[in-house]
Amino acid sequence: MSTSAAVPPLQAILSAIANAKPRPGRPAARLLAVSKTRGAEAVAALAAQGQRAFGENYVQEALPKIAALRGQGLEWHLIGHLQSNKAREAAQAFDWVQSVDRAKLVEALARHRPPEAGPLNVLIQVNIDDEASKSGCRPQDVSALAEAVAAQPRLRLRGLMAIPAPDPDIARRRAAFRAMSSLFDALAARHAGVDTLSMGMSEDYLDAIAEGATMVRIGSALFGPRAPKKETNA
Ligand SMILES: *Cc1c(COP(=O)(O)O)cnc(C)c1O
Repeated sequence: MSTSAAVPPLQAILSAIANAKPRPGRPAARLLAVSKTRGAEAVAALAAQGQRAFGENYVQEALPKIAALRGQGLEWHLIGHLQSNKAREAAQAFDWVQSVDRAKLVEALARHRPPEAGPLNVLIQVNIDDEASKSGCRPQDVSALAEAVAAQPRLRLRGLMAIPAPDPDIARRRAAFRAMSSLFDALAARHAGVDTLSMGMSEDYLDAIAEGATMVRIGSALFGPRAPKKETNA
């Protein structure tokens, strides 16, 4: 997508984030650039503008991009559902896993995190409002899962992540963000080092920041619309 806009999307989004009023007590939000379906060149172009943190949904899709851009000081976040049989590759290649939602995955990631890499940063994904979704733990399971993460020296508990249902009613979406914010406050009160609440995407990141997000995950507003999802299982 070539565009003649004077302000590149990255700069426009960074200033929108900088001008957003955070919830009292929250630091300014960080931008995670969601690079799923985009090639390594698209990532490199944003990196050249200063963007460091990138999010990917699929381990297999991410590995070649991570390899191609090694040595550039980028920070890679896994934000998609993680199958246990991919935990080894994820623990080796990523800096953060935001989609930890079960004890089995906690153990697998800790077991496979290479000792020479620093601890793997972990967010617990919470299924805050979508009963049908298979990803994310229940809000009442956060405490036990957090204890399990905190007990692993190879992992570092950083906070929570959520993908609220794309409800056209923004008031209901904001209620989900608010519920996440209280869960986050309760977690941060019990665990030192918890500093990240990842929520909000292209359509609603300013609402998420207003309700307490410290990290927003933005794809299409940065890179342009994604091609429709392929039906093949790549
Ligand atoms: C794709 C994706 C995003 C980014 O969505 P956009 O609407 O393109 O900004 C954020 N978080 C997760 C978990 C995603 O899968």
